[in-house]
Amino acid sequence: MSQSLAQAAAPSSGNPVAHLHTPARPIIPLPTIDAALAARVAASVGLLRRAVSDYGRVVYANSLGAEAIVLTDLICTEVPAIDIVTIDTGRLPESTLTLLERLEQRYQRRIQVYYPRGRAIEGYVRQHGVNGFYNGLEQRLSCCQIRKIEPFRRAIQGYDAWVTGVRREQSAVRADSQPCAHDPHYGLIKVSPLLDWTETAVWTYILAKRLPYNSLHDAGYPSIGCAPCTRPVEPGQEHRAGRWWWEQADSRECGLHPRPRPAVSG
Ligand code: SF4
Repeated sequence: MSQSLAQAAAPSSGNPVAHLHTPARPIIPLPTIDAALAARVAASVGLLRRAVSDYGRVVYANSLGAEAIVLTDLICTEVPAIDIVTIDTGRLPESTLTLLERLEQRYQRRIQVYYPRGRAIEGYVRQHGVNGFYNGLEQRLSCCQIRKIEPFRRAIQGYDAWVTGVRREQSAVRADSQPCAHDPHYGLIKVSPLLDWTETAVWTYILAKRLPYNSLHDAGYPSIGCAPCTRPVEPGQEHRAGRWWWEQADSRECGLHPRPRPAVSG
């Protein structure tokens, strides 16, 4: 099973961009920031500023996706008091790391990178194999725990609030999120300034401001995670349909935004 999933996950050339075709973003011929988008920007900046004044130490856990580009720009240009961190799981596409470097160059600011514990990865691979996440939900969640959640917990230590790029329209399980809410899972405030942004608004902002973005967005990937667990989507598919595509839709979260767990069978 793992072999066929791995083969379906990404092209064997190692260059997913060369393999694919359809841009996974809206085509916006003349992107401009109109009054409606400017109002969204102002509201998001206002929420970020309030987060700093109300909660104190605020950190942005940067996913390097499209929403992350908007948030990185807003934070670096408008609310620089917010720290920015990111998680390198060790399985990211090369284009994601290239993007990280481009963002650091553009904003002349270091984004602190957290890595998984080497011994935990060695133990996982010894038990489940290098691509063991394809073999069941428990194995997949265990890999996400080691490569994402544990480094994330270290990254947010000492902060009072964390910023996310979650948008309501991204998936059914994200639709009921709140802009600002106590996150009992991590014991700090979760701030989501882009909750009501549409995908078109995100891309209009990126293109109008000529911000760098992940080249995989032009090759069929609306949502980008680890290389072996992300594939392009077909036109009309849900935004996150390419993430852990072999699982049922209600389990397709890495655990950073916990939801009630589906029953695990088998
Ligand atoms: S997305 Fe895939 S490779 Fe990345 S941490 Fe989760 S299971 Fe592991």
